[in-house]
Amino acid sequence: MTAECDRVDLEPFSLRLARPLDTARGTIDHREGFLVRVACDGESGVGEATPLPGWTESLDDCEAALERATERAGSDGYEAALDALDARETPAARHGLSLALADARARATDEPLYRYLGGEAEVDAVPVNATVGDGDVETSVADAESAVDEGFDCLKVKVGARSLTADFDRVEAVREACPDATLRADANGSWDRETARRAMGQFGGHGVEYVEQPLPTGDLTGHADLRGGPVGVALDESLGEHGVDAVLAAGAADVLVLKPMALGGPDRARDAALRAREAGLEAVVTTTIDAVYARTAAVHVAASLAPLPACGLATADFLAEDLASDPAPVVHGAVTVPEGKGNVPAGGGSSSA
Ligand SMILES: [Mg+2]
Repeated sequence: MTAECDRVDLEPFSLRLARPLDTARGTIDHREGFLVRVACDGESGVGEATPLPGWTESLDDCEAALERATERAGSDGYEAALDALDARETPAARHGLSLALADARARATDEPLYRYLGGEAEVDAVPVNATVGDGDVETSVADAESAVDEGFDCLKVKVGARSLTADFDRVEAVREACPDATLRADANGSWDRETARRAMGQFGGHGVEYVEQPLPTGDLTGHADLRGGPVGVALDESLGEHGVDAVLAAGAADVLVLKPMALGGPDRARDAALRAREAGLEAVVTTTIDAVYARTAAVHVAASLAPLPACGLATADFLAEDLASDPAPVVHGAVTVPEGKGNVPAGGGSSSA
């Protein structure tokens, strides 16, 4: 291989959100990032680096890391450039290059990305959950019912923004309105230990499968202490702060919520899921409100691990515009897995939707 041919092209993009989104670092109304293009093994590949501060490096740090990687690829080759990108320090930048290379190589071997990543079986679709955002009881029930009408059988209720009593009323009302749905809750780290203990006890009575991030990110011991009851503990934000190994070592979770953009790439996310499985934990895959290339790659990561519990991959609607047509639409509570070669197949995939 001639290293001088290992060329990386970066293309910045900015996409409007359908509505403003509250994040750990304030409200955002755009998603900005970089398309990362490579050519290797006779094929071109496209990656996406869409940093979300609070979860990943900043946009500026992402750009600087990608520019260094571009130079390094030109002098030492793609693998050296990828190795030099730190998955903890600049996960979005590493995601961009890692995805671009995996996309090109999957195309070169004429297989969909999920098979290239190691998926052994053919997978048509991955089940996904609908999110019921914070709102009063009536709004929460209406959102839950319309999701079930659309075919979702797993609902994730956002909690923690109001009192525990108010959240309990919401979960109870959603349970009564949707008796057959799998229910989860996501507290985004907003409870203290005592509130979390009471919440998990009460939610257990309504068959809530697990609560995502009941306690602040740093409290691995508190999360470990919450396990063992009827409601599982899922960790999301804590993975970014501590990494998968520390979370597993602390015995802090029953379920890992894996965001490929925050973990440094599709390869890293899949590896984390396999390690979680080895430790007897479940994993689900979700996005950081990414554009179509990263979102579809997250679908491929989930497909490569099938069967998984319902994943958080129904996030295309957060964007008012996108970089290409969506090859992985949500149909009846499951996201379609593109069957063409690579990540986003030419022409938007095999689906006609
Ligand atoms: Mg979460």
